[in-house]
Amino acid sequence: MIVAMQEKATEDQIDAVIDALVEAGVNVHRTTGASQTILAAVGQTSNLDPHKFELLSGVLYVHRISSPYKLAGRGFRPEGTVVEFRNGVKIGNQRVAVMAGPCSIENHDQIFETAARVKAAGGTFLRGGAFKPRSSPYAFQGMGIPGLKLMREAADAHGLLTVSEVMEISQIEPMFPYIDLYQVGARNMQNFNLLRELGQVRKPVLLKRGIAATIEELLLSSEYIMAGGNYNVILCERGIRTYETATRNTMDISAIPIVKKLSHLPIVGDPSHGTGRRDMVAPMARAAVAAGADAILVEVHPNADKAASDAAQTLYLEQFDQLMCELRVIASAVGREL
Ligand code: PEP
Ligand code: MN
Repeated sequence: MIVAMQEKATEDQIDAVIDALVEAGVNVHRTTGASQTILAAVGQTSNLDPHKFELLSGVLYVHRISSPYKLAGRGFRPEGTVVEFRNGVKIGNQRVAVMAGPCSIENHDQIFETAARVKAAGGTFLRGGAFKPRSSPYAFQGMGIPGLKLMREAADAHGLLTVSEVMEISQIEPMFPYIDLYQVGARNMQNFNLLRELGQVRKPVLLKRGIAATIEELLLSSEYIMAGGNYNVILCERGIRTYETATRNTMDISAIPIVKKLSHLPIVGDPSHGTGRRDMVAPMARAAVAAGADAILVEVHPNADKAASDAAQTLYLEQFDQLMCELRVIASAVGREL
């Protein structure tokens, strides 16, 4: 349930409404906007009577939300969430961010060369997996923390931020110094214990959609993180499993405007995992920006054919340069910049 306070509501009136909600047995999350305060009641709200709260002084209206995600719902922050990072980088504003790098961090030269090219082309985040969720236990599993150290050095040398996947709770703390954004992979979208723990962390989380997850399930998973107090969640459409076999996954471009409508959280398009094919990455990246994505996540590697993981979907450096030029044109055509 959302309680929207009147523009001129006093602190005493707001406190009285919070007290009444707490007394009714629900948790209250407060958002103070430029002109209005919004109170989101979370928990057992089904037996609350909205009219009772509507009559409290200073209340403009009370809205019962039927959707089960309250903190992630658009109504909680109608103006949209902007996630802020070091270096003044923001995700969720006018500027479309680009996160690029190899699927896996492999060695010093690979990650340093990639960082230089990502920066030169206008990217803001260096991506690279150190803990890899591979379908086969015999496939390369990632370099772990030494890999993250390398990626941090490469990113710092070029003024980039870093994003990398966290697969389990025990990795959260050791990863913390080396990354700016925790990635929760498709396979862990419903690892609720991991999500709850990330709710306690004071660092943004990139939450990828599971291969068989509905948009509502994605938003409910983000709710787990936000319910812990970490509101800096960025969602990611990375393709879902369908009956189509022409691509590795089916990139659900429509998820982007749907999420924008249902939620205030920023959304990223990942056309690399979304298609699994190098030749399809650029068209789907362009489509994602045109559809309103706040950032693009792509895999790129100095020797893409020999990448230790996801080689088939990894862009050559020259393809990445070309894509960045194209995305600039698309972004400006839809009133954004890159
Ligand atoms: C990745 O980003 O390399 C990755 C494994 O992503 P996903 O969880 O979307 O498969
Ligand atoms: Mn990958």
